[in-house]
Order: sequence, then C-alpha cells, then structure tokens
Amino acid sequence: MSYDIADAPEDGEVITLADEETGELDVPENPIIPIIHGDGIGTDVGPAAQTVLDAAAEATGRDIAWMRVYAGESARDKYDENLPDETVEAIREHRVAIKGPLTTPVGSGFRSLNVALRQTLDLYANVRPTYHLDGVPSPVKEPGEMDMVSFRENTEDVYAGIEWEAGTDDAEKVREFVEDEMGFDEKIHDGPVGLGLKPISEYGSKRLIRQAIEYALANDRDSVTLVHKGNIMKFTEAAFRDWGYELADEEYGEETITEDELWEEYDGEAPDDKLVVKDRIADNMLQQLLTRTTDYDVLAMPNLNGDYLSDSAGAQIGGLGIAPGINFGDGRALAEPVHGSAPKHAGQDKVNPTAMILSGREMLDYLGWSDAGDLVRDAVEEQIASGRVTYDLERQRDGATKLATSEFADEVVERIHDLA
Ligand code: NAP
Repeated sequence: MSYDIADAPEDGEVITLADEETGELDVPENPIIPIIHGDGIGTDVGPAAQTVLDAAAEATGRDIAWMRVYAGESARDKYDENLPDETVEAIREHRVAIKGPLTTPVGSGFRSLNVALRQTLDLYANVRPTYHLDGVPSPVKEPGEMDMVSFRENTEDVYAGIEWEAGTDDAEKVREFVEDEMGFDEKIHDGPVGLGLKPISEYGSKRLIRQAIEYALANDRDSVTLVHKGNIMKFTEAAFRDWGYELADEEYGEETITEDELWEEYDGEAPDDKLVVKDRIADNMLQQLLTRTTDYDVLAMPNLNGDYLSDSAGAQIGGLGIAPGINFGDGRALAEPVHGSAPKHAGQDKVNPTAMILSGREMLDYLGWSDAGDLVRDAVEEQIASGRVTYDLERQRDGATKLATSEFADEVVERIHDLA
C-alpha cells in the first residue's frame, strides 16, 4: 500500500505471515517497523527507545527500518484527525509496531485511541511482563521474587461498552426486559439505575488462554493461572475458568496437567516437560501476589481482573516508569509502555524511558530476536544498577545521579556496545 504522509522507508522489507494457522511470522533482517512516538512524554521516550532498539538490532547484525506514523496530537497537526486510517493500515500491513502513550480526555471528547487501536487491529491479548531490575526501588522486601507475565483479555467483559445510562428510556427498557421477561424482579432497586452488560465468550476466552499457554510453553514457564471471580459470576467468570481447563485438556493434553493431577500423580513436583494449569479467585490472587509471589508465573485473566492485577503487580517491581507492555493479535503485535502521556512532564527530556525501551524489548522477542532483546534488558539493568538514572528513580535512591531521558538512553546504548 502507498501512504500519503507516513512513507515506508525504501531500505526496509515487510514482515509477512509464514503460517496462517499458527500466526508465525517471516521476519527479514531489515523489517519495516511503524512507530508512534505518542503524546506528552511520548516525544521524549519515543526517540530514546528508538535509539536503544537500533543499537541492539545493529549489535546483532540486523537493521530496523523505522516508519514514523502518527496518532493523537501529532496526527491532528498533520491530518486534522486523531487516528488516521493510514496509521491503522500501516500497523496492519507491517504486523509489528511500537507506540508511546496517547492522551485520552476525561469525561468528554474522543474515545481512547489506545482502545480504538487495539480493537480495530483485534489485538486481543494485553501482555505485561513483570520482573524486577536490580537497583529499582520497590515497596516490597523481595521484589526479585516476582517474575510473572500477565495476559489480559482486551476486547470484552465490562469494557465492551454495552451500557445504558440511569434515567434514560433505554435503561428502563432493559430493566423491564430483565424483570418482566427474564424474571429477575427482586434484584434491581427502584429509581434511576445505570445498567451494563458483561459479555465473556467461549471464543474470546479461549483465544486469550491459548496465547497464554503458547507463551508459557515457548518460554519454558512452569504454570498458567486462570484468575476469575467465578464464585460470584458463574456464567461469565466461572465460564472463563471452565473454558480454560477445557482448552488445556483438548489442545494441550500432552503438555499440561492440572493442579489436582500435580498432587494426585506427581506429589506436588511437576515434571520438567509439564505445564501446570491452575486457577485462583481474583481477590485471593491479589493477596497471593504479595504473600506467595514465587508460586505464580503466567496469569490469564478476563479484562477487568487483568486491569487490576497487572497494575498491582507492576507496583511491586517499581511502578510506571519501568513497566513494559505489548498487545498480541493473531500474527500481529503492538508494543506500548503501561504509563500514560504524563502531560506535566512533557518535552522536558526528563522522564524515564525504561518502560518504552523494555516494551521494545518485548517487540524484539516477538520478532524472534531474543538475543537483541536480552542485550536491551541487560544494558538497562546495568544502567539502573549503576545509579545513573532519571528523576523518578534518583529521588528514591541515596547517592544516585540524575540523568536526562536522552542521557540515560545514550548510556544504555554504550552498554549495549560493550555487552555485544
Ligand atoms: P501517567 O501519564 O502514566 O502519569 C502519572 C504519573 O506517573 C506521572 O505524573 C509520573 O509521576 C509517573 N510517570 C508516568 N510515566 C513516567 C515515566 N516514563 N517516567 C517517570 N515517571 C512517570 O498517568 P495519567 O496522568 O493518569 O494519564 C495521563 C494521560 O495518559 C491521560 O490522558 C491518560 O488517558 C493517558 N494514558 C494513556 C495510556 C496509553 O497510551 N496506553 C495509558 C495510561 C494513560 P510523578 O509526576 O509523580 O513523577
């Protein structure tokens, strides 16, 4: 496809799908990768991450052909709209991309561009690796115990946006339907009431849990935990759990065992070649993150549980400036940091680019370039451990030196050269 503003670089090649069924990609050594720097601090962390990812690609004999694409404020300047079609098409065509944060106005204005991008491209799994880097201040005593990856369903649950406002005719129609036709007459209080639907489908649950199991198997992880509130919501949250066990049994029967089988057949010690599939109720899971951190590895969750759990887990390893993320679809991925556009710090070359850089590391892993990904992680960890860090970490550590965003990134690049 040809683009009006966001021209693809001539020296790059397009990533293609190698296997329709598995979503496996054919990745050239010089792939074209669309990048959205983003709003607010995106203008600081976007270029910083690009420099570091370039260095890691070059150090491992590859070359990223970046294609700048635009959304949010930068798109309004160039296209007079928030999310131009050609940005969406560029990401769709090139399959793997990275973006910085995009601002969402609260209460009024346009809908979240982040949600729109994930939905339009059907990026149904929001994936957040949560591991501790040496030298990052944490509120817990043993942050190094956490090494988890959250898979949060991205397209349904209460986020599907099927809601009726209190006092409207539509809300009253739904109330009447529920009370008169479905026979739930005792459960809704009289007077104005807002109503919402929580769809959790077999299709949506299974494709998310399939991604989590595939990831766990490919990365030699020990367990996948299905996190649900099925004791209360039997036909949505409990169904998510049941579909998870069904999928594990039907599609991964050879590779997986349940927790019951672990104790009944293996005395609590899983053989090396078996992945344990277990489940936990969400409120208990929030406690267990703190009290039994090492028992958990990959988590698979419906949308709302995933939202709460992944932020809580992120706090344990150092918070927003650090936490990376990536969204997976079938044969498609969009990496993005967990943090937002922090407008008050924008354009000051001040904030921490680690979350965006480590999101890039996830992207490199997705391309199958885990040697480059490991270089990025090791260089960032060394840099933070050295105490030469951005303001957010410097203010929490005695004797640390404060660096600008760009200085931090340049020093990480030097470390990549030294490590390679
Ligand atoms: P935020 O942008 O994540 O910032 C909240 C605070 O977190 C900042 O003030 C700063 O704390 C700290 N922080 C965030 N990123 C940092 C970094 N890279 N380095 C150091 N500190 C960092 O959250 P928000 O203020 O709630 O949201 C602002 C806008 O971003 C909203 O429009 C929101 O909708 C949007 N948002 C977008 C995404 C996305 O694009 N995926 C995600 C979340 C939010 P201190 O000031 O205390 O140092």
